[in-house]
Order: sequence, then structure tokens, then C-alpha cells
Amino acid sequence: MKVILFASAFVLVGSCATLSHKEKIQAIKDNIKIHQPNHIEQFAQTITASELKEHLYVFSSDSLKGRKVGSTGHKKGVKYLKDYYISEDIASPYGGLNYYQNIPNAYFDNKYNSSENVLAYIKGTEKPKEVIIISAHHDHLGIDLDGNIYNGADDNGSGTVALMEMAQAFKEAKNNGYGPKRSILFLHVTAEEVGLQGSKYYTENPVFLLKNTIANLNIDMIGRVDKYHVEDPNYVYIIGANRLSTELFYISEAINDAFFDIDLDYKYNAEHELNRYYYRSDHYNFANHNIPVIFYFNGEHGDYHKVTDTPDKINFQLLEKRTRLIFATAWQLANQKNRIIIDKS
Ligand SMILES: [Zn+2]
Repeated sequence: MKVILFASAFVLVGSCATLSHKEKIQAIKDNIKIHQPNHIEQFAQTITASELKEHLYVFSSDSLKGRKVGSTGHKKGVKYLKDYYISEDIASPYGGLNYYQNIPNAYFDNKYNSSENVLAYIKGTEKPKEVIIISAHHDHLGIDLDGNIYNGADDNGSGTVALMEMAQAFKEAKNNGYGPKRSILFLHVTAEEVGLQGSKYYTENPVFLLKNTIANLNIDMIGRVDKYHVEDPNYVYIIGANRLSTELFYISEAINDAFFDIDLDYKYNAEHELNRYYYRSDHYNFANHNIPVIFYFNGEHGDYHKVTDTPDKINFQLLEKRTRLIFATAWQLANQKNRIIIDKS
């Protein structure tokens, strides 16, 4: 997550309680048919706490030196992602061994070295030009003045390894004859901590046309529990799901009801919410282009943006469950007959 304080004006939108509105919602709900539920369950199970843990202990290790944008340690992390996708035989949308979308230092006003978004994808079997983008930033804060490393295990090692495991699950499904109908892009963006620059660059230089980008599921911190959920950690904050597409909101709910029963907490989705998380991670650059988004987030905790955000504090069982939820939601978006409908602006 990026820290920003906003002064803001708020618009309160009244809810429409007419019968026709209710009927419309019911029609949207009735129209959601979960695609291949058995296979969703089968391949979601390939996403495991132990593999997430293995990757996260590497990705948040001291040797990456806090992954400050464009630093040597950060580039080591970027290469770890690329090597992973090559070893898993998961392709780059650029083809060959080029998994990087290079962002020149000039784009960062020369404040940081050049840096890379890392892109891997599973090509759709029926509508390959339409794409679901699952994103997570891979940069963090580097090293403090005393030389302590910001490991960024939750922020955003957790989202990074979630993408790696989801890509593997979709690849395995494809190998078994159940590849997604639409393409899925695993977009590891850089430079989030310095102003959502990597996702901004992608939306200015998209690989798939933005008009063919069905949705963005963005993950930034899903491995921990905040102070409001200590008693029952079976939750995740869902932000943005209903802002552009009512259908996306109800798909997210239907998938969760069918398979996971996680408490989807909408506290931070309120339009007047003071933290303004909707505007504070990479999904916003997609929403800004009228692409429906869901932002998955565990909320802030005592180690947020501190050198104590370390992998030993991650709840890997919970990380597994949340990752499976996102995987299943992406599966539905990629496979259902119609692309989701945008009905708000
Ligand atoms: Zn973050």
C-alpha cells in the first residue's frame, strides 16, 4: 500500500430501493452460473500454504534488500519471478524469454533507476484477445537510515506469491484440458510505493487493448490479520467490486458463497471512507480507465510499512484461502459466457 493523505470532497449517493432496482439485482444474481465448479475446486487445491511459504521466504528475504524500486535487490526479485515463469513453462505475452515491460528512469523523473513490470499469461482458448488482469506490486521500501531492511512480507510479498501460485494453477488446468476461455495476465507491477507508477505505465502501454480488459483483480497485502479481526481471521476486505459493475460484485459474492465462506468485509468500500484505499493501490489505474476492479486487502497492522513486516508473521493458511478465492473469481470471469457488464460510471 502506498501512504497518501488526501483532502477530499465526498459525494453521497442515495440507494435506489424501487422494485425495479430490486428486480434488476435479482436478474443479475439469477444470471450467474458458476462455470465448472468441480474443476474450480480441483485446481484451487493446487494452491497451497506450503508453496506460498516457500516463495515468500525467498521473496521477502534480506538478500533482496527491501526491493526499493530499481535497486540491485529489487532486480534480483524481478529475476526470481521471471525464472519462475520460465521454469513453470508459463509464457510471456511478449513471446520468447522477454517477461519484462521495462520502464525507463525518465518515467520516474530520474528519481529511481529503470525498473520492470513482469508479465506472464495463460492464453485464452476461445476469446484470447479478452483478458482478466490479476495484479500485485513487487517493489517495497528498501532499507532505513540505520540499515534495517524492509522485508515487505505482507506488503506485497503476499500478493506477489499469490500470483505465482494462481498462474501455476491455471497452467495445470490448461495442461489438463481446462484452460480459461479468456486470457489471464499475471501482472507484477513495479513502483507502487512511489505513486502507483508501474500500473500507470502499463495502462498507458497496455499489451492487451484496455477495451478488451474485462476486469482487474488487484492484491496488495493478503497475508495478515488486522486488529478488527483477531477473534475471527476468516475475512478479507473487498474494495471497489461494485463501483463499475454490479455483476462483478455479485460474482465475487457467489464464488465466495459456493466455495469459501470468507467474511467479505466491505467496510473500506464505503464511498466516504476516510482511508480512501480505493485510490491507493494499483487497481485504481485500471478503474480510471473504466475497467471494473476488485482490490483484495487485509487492512493495516502494527508492522505496516515497518521493518518488522517479516514472513514469520504471515498466516499462510489464510493466505492460501484468500488466494483460492481470487483464483476462483478469476476463473469465473474468464470462463462465463458473457463478459461482465459495466452498468455504472
Ligand atoms: Zn503495498
